[in-house]
Amino acid sequence: MDVEVLCPFCGFNGKTVTRWGNNFCKCPDYKEKLYNKYATGVSGEKNKIGCVYLADEPMIFKDRMEQDVEMFGESAEIS
Ligand SMILES: [Zn+2]
Repeated sequence: MDVEVLCPFCGFNGKTVTRWGNNFCKCPDYKEKLYNKYATGVSGEKNKIGCVYLADEPMIFKDRMEQDVEMFGESAEIS
């Protein structure tokens, strides 16, 4: 399935592919996991550039807090 990527990490804007039912894809540039939402808000419906998913936000895992600490740790936790 085609995914429209609007990467919040590196600004990449383009297409990548994922399997149908996958809830995340990876940015082609940054390799960061991005959450796949329905491009039009409707399951299986393609948007104007033919993508069924839109990935414009980070994949949120159950361990969101740990993920945040990991992501911002370098700048925020210098002791
Ligand atoms: Zn990226």
